[in-house]
Amino acid sequence: MKTSIATVSISGDFRDKLAAIAAAGFDGIEIFEQDFIAFDGTPREVGAMVRDHGLAITLFQPFRDFEGLPEPHRARAFARAGRKFDLMAELGTDLVLVCSSVHPAAMGGIDRAAADFHALGEIAAARGLRVGFEALAWGRHVFDHRDAWEVVRRADHPAVGLILDSFHTLARGIDPETIRSIPAERIFFVQLADAPAIAMDLLYLSRHFRAMPGEGDLDVTGFMRAVAATGYAGPLSLEIFNDQFRGGLPRLVAEDGHRSLVALMDRVRRAEPALAVDLADFPAPAPVEAVEFIEFATSRADAGPIEALLSACGFAPAGAHRSKAVTRWRQGGVNVLVNTEETGFAHSAYVAHGTTLSEIALRVPDAGAAHARALALGAREMAQDAGPGEVDFAALRGVGGSLIRLLDCGGGAGGGGAGGGGAGGIWAVDFAGARTAPAGAGITAIDHIGQTMAYDEMLSWTLFYSTIFAARKAPMVDVADPDGLVRSQAVEAGGLRVTLNGAETARTLAGRFITDSLGASVQHIAFACADIFATAEALAARGFPVLAIGANYYDDVEARFGLDPRLTARLRAANILYDEDAGGAFFQLYSRSQPDGMFFEIVERRGGYAGYGAPNAPFRIAAQKRAGRAAGVPRA
Ligand code: MG
Ligand code: MG
Repeated sequence: MKTSIATVSISGDFRDKLAAIAAAGFDGIEIFEQDFIAFDGTPREVGAMVRDHGLAITLFQPFRDFEGLPEPHRARAFARAGRKFDLMAELGTDLVLVCSSVHPAAMGGIDRAAADFHALGEIAAARGLRVGFEALAWGRHVFDHRDAWEVVRRADHPAVGLILDSFHTLARGIDPETIRSIPAERIFFVQLADAPAIAMDLLYLSRHFRAMPGEGDLDVTGFMRAVAATGYAGPLSLEIFNDQFRGGLPRLVAEDGHRSLVALMDRVRRAEPALAVDLADFPAPAPVEAVEFIEFATSRADAGPIEALLSACGFAPAGAHRSKAVTRWRQGGVNVLVNTEETGFAHSAYVAHGTTLSEIALRVPDAGAAHARALALGAREMAQDAGPGEVDFAALRGVGGSLIRLLDCGGGAGGGGAGGGGAGGIWAVDFAGARTAPAGAGITAIDHIGQTMAYDEMLSWTLFYSTIFAARKAPMVDVADPDGLVRSQAVEAGGLRVTLNGAETARTLAGRFITDSLGASVQHIAFACADIFATAEALAARGFPVLAIGANYYDDVEARFGLDPRLTARLRAANILYDEDAGGAFFQLYSRSQPDGMFFEIVERRGGYAGYGAPNAPFRIAAQKRAGRAAGVPRA
């Protein structure tokens, strides 16, 4: 697989872009003309600089408004093309992208366009160059790859071929299966981009909201399966126009891009086993059975608030680590570790963030395989810090420098080697004085983990979870904080449900949390219970610091869902929020925020409710800000 990326996809000046693209493992770049013009160097210098980074120039683009023009526009278009060909020769690339015309004088007609391309093909071929034709979704006459292919077919020139772009095909709802019958040698280049399912002008969507394959809602896999079925073996190139990426870190965006291409081709080969996909073999996406434990990093001096909150939630200490200052708290099927070590990874996490969720341990069928897949997809390995005789687990770097541990399903007390530790093993081997889990307040499991980060990082972590694990994404939703917008994306991988919140401004509660906790991290843990009213009562008896919800909310929710007033009264009395979807009902209550902004949520799902109560988030956020002000939290 030859990978490529358009320079426009990445922020920074031309040198920054090249360094990031090369470091991420790409084979080549598409030079976007504007990037070249903005750079202060001759075409030859640019070409040499690209090759010095070990990269090829796979494509020069864009050449606009070429086909179907009447004179004198037509002659001018050919003269312009001649200038571009000179430039390409100096840069050292042989392929130019001609996108379908939006010129007001352009005339329709497949044969007229084909004749223009035949003539251009003659000029290009004489100079050893090639021309690729791409249908823009908003082209004046050609806006469908099937028409662009017909132009290329009738142009009937070996130097003229088709350029496919997943965005233009999929955003217009064109069936990508129509690609399968195009001969591979006539496809000169393939560009890949995803986009969210937002109803919006296609030009605007394309220029601002394109995303890496897998980050949006388009069926880029279906598109690529059809392309691969033709036998196309040329470059796969990312052409991503995205405002966040343009403001993001070049290195992060380039790494995500490369990961998205590897994951895409892995999906293609698993869906089309008969095709020869040129990609190193690695294990299939890992299903997650459950979250085996979560770990908070804190210090002896600071552990009070988190232990008090756990206790008020119905958790009880149930054993201590044999060699480390780590206490295991249990309730129902939930294990929470509180780590007060004064050295090591957890301590560093505490020093960096304050009391923070530093570790999530996932139970998977084959930890070694999941670990190998993650590394093949560019995840970072974390150093092990197991003591002698203790279980040693495969670990990955997660959000905000937190750690994701992978544990084998089953009880094997295996030790040694990445992925060697069974989920049962850790409790038997590493923890002494284990006691059974108390019934507590009726909490049974971890429902979801809410992680908060800047918006561009959110796309990155969406890609992380959804490519490594057997996961599905829910559509992105907007959450209105009174002080700005927060975008929320849920990823579900079996027993792991993560809600990723991307904050755009520092004034939102999510944004302030990022500032206060010095970077992205877990903002809330949601625990599941079987009977929210019974749990609410048990929590109240334990002094749980419930978040008070305003009275207006209950009047509205009763009217919105036509609730029985007796139910509304119970919700109001216990500060429980309510939501419904086609599958069932959802109940949620929240703790007040900890001093560092973290909070707990307790939920009950009835029927097949599939969401996370997003419609309630604005009211929850307003209540949290109110509670913060009442408690004298500055800036709340
Ligand atoms: Mg394109
Ligand atoms: Mg939640």
